[in-house]
Amino acid sequence: MVESTTRDDMTWYKCEKCGLMFDDRDDAKQHEENCDSSDPSYLQ
Ligand SMILES: [Zn+2]
Repeated sequence: MVESTTRDDMTWYKCEKCGLMFDDRDDAKQHEENCDSSDPSYLQ
């Protein structure tokens, strides 16, 4: 699931798998479908 977050009056969409942020929900969804990372090791 893509997670949305508001920051600096902008809405960002985050890949829950790897934590990558996108400014476009479709980009985020497309990335997440192809995201191999199941371990968000570099998140946090
Ligand atoms: Zn990802």
